[in-house]
Amino acid sequence: MNVIEKLEVLADAAKYDVACTSSGVQRSGKKGQLGAAHQAGCCHSFTPDGRCVTLLKVLMTNACVYDCAYCVNRASNAAVPRTAFTPRELADLTIGFYRRNYIEGLFLSSGVAGCPDRTTELMVQALRILREEYGFRGYIHTKTIPGTSLELIDELGRLSDRLSVNLELPSKQSLGLLAPNKSRHSILAPMRHIFESVAEDKESLALAQRRTTVYREKRMARKTRAFAPAGQSTQMIIGATPESDYQILNLSAALYTQLSLKRVFFSAYLPVVADPLLPATDAVQLNREHRLYQADWLLRYYGFNVSEIIDEKNPFLAPDVDPKANWALNHLDFFPVEVNTAPLEALLRVPGIGVRGARLILRARRQSTLGEAELRRLGIAYKRARYFITMNGAYGGSGIDFSRDALHARLSAPIDGGRHGRRADRAVQGQMSLFEAVDAPPVLPEASPANRAALDVAFEAQRRALAQPAAIGAPARAGESERPPILGADTSPAECEGASQEGAPHGNAVCEPLLSVA
Ligand code: SF4
Repeated sequence: MNVIEKLEVLADAAKYDVACTSSGVQRSGKKGQLGAAHQAGCCHSFTPDGRCVTLLKVLMTNACVYDCAYCVNRASNAAVPRTAFTPRELADLTIGFYRRNYIEGLFLSSGVAGCPDRTTELMVQALRILREEYGFRGYIHTKTIPGTSLELIDELGRLSDRLSVNLELPSKQSLGLLAPNKSRHSILAPMRHIFESVAEDKESLALAQRRTTVYREKRMARKTRAFAPAGQSTQMIIGATPESDYQILNLSAALYTQLSLKRVFFSAYLPVVADPLLPATDAVQLNREHRLYQADWLLRYYGFNVSEIIDEKNPFLAPDVDPKANWALNHLDFFPVEVNTAPLEALLRVPGIGVRGARLILRARRQSTLGEAELRRLGIAYKRARYFITMNGAYGGSGIDFSRDALHARLSAPIDGGRHGRRADRAVQGQMSLFEAVDAPPVLPEASPANRAALDVAFEAQRRALAQPAAIGAPARAGESERPPILGADTSPAECEGASQEGAPHGNAVCEPLLSVA
């Protein structure tokens, strides 16, 4: 294969990884070097100044020796052509695209070529060529392979802006069932190491900058790049296993509080390969993914905690209203909120008022008393907010029954007209392909009783497998003996120090989260 043919295969193989937005670094250009990284934005996301920033999103190789049941690159899938970049090819391609202004950075992931360390060495070589030979200062997000040795993660972190380790599935049992070559330890150990390295690096940097007496004799000369200055993120697949939103959000909260993750990405399970252990449904839970992102936003920016959003008795987010509206409907005694006097925390609880809108309200009300016209001018979604606010004593939703049922009916109806309505009209249902036009897959009305029954049927095979622990995590599953030859796999996983030793899940039905809130 020539480089362009490799690119077609390896860019297509990378399209299912969603954990690649937001750079979070500001690094301007420098004479004699190439590129710059600006705050936020990658892979077709928008920077604060409105620019769309693009990353080259590729795998180092799709010739993976692991056999994760849900993955198109799994070793037993003979249907995909296999290939690998050499480090030089990848670096030249990235620089070539950068110079042509096609991209502003690189998102690099990989299948496991032999073992995690061998794969990471290839990635490090490619990044070294980029950073040291070409002097590339653009944004680089690198995916860390579970089980990689900590020394190699150190090298990777010094060459990348962001690192991420995919959690893949929310519980130890599910991981053992669908990703038998990975384990809780092989995923969490690199995440902890990245967390500690970023923290240590920030401490030393802060000390040096403050010029304390600690460094008086010998001022620290920063010879190495900062360690992953944009932090780390992760990704979880939603809907491939039966864990509830309650479990997923608790796990996310633990990741934010214990490992300081910048983002937890949710990826609705897409049925791309067949496996008896995968859910017996073709439906893609995009609405559920969307609700999880909304809940995640509440955790990170709105001061909510998980128990305010969801509880064990109702472990799935409401499919018809967003989590903030659902909280408001369950706490009508908190409302109405007076927009001219309420503190920021109270404004942030009002459906239709976002973080930016709440801050604008605080600023605007110093100048004048706010009414409907002013709120609309500030970009508040007034049609939603009005049921929950007063404006100088006047209730915004007068004439409407202030009851849970009546408000629920209004909040679950599609937004009609206005700026927010026009944006909703433009939203396309279904999973968009990055590369070609496809028919949108069906969307399940998640969490409805009917759908819960359908999900019970879908996960029947997984439940049966969990009841027979000896069968889980065993190396030989259907099709494994017919694996295609692996390119670049010059080390078997068993020979590799970093290969998973854990993996067989417990045979009980209770899913053990990968990480719990301390
Ligand atoms: S390690 Fe698993 S998820 Fe990653 S490429 Fe290989 S089979 Fe796919």
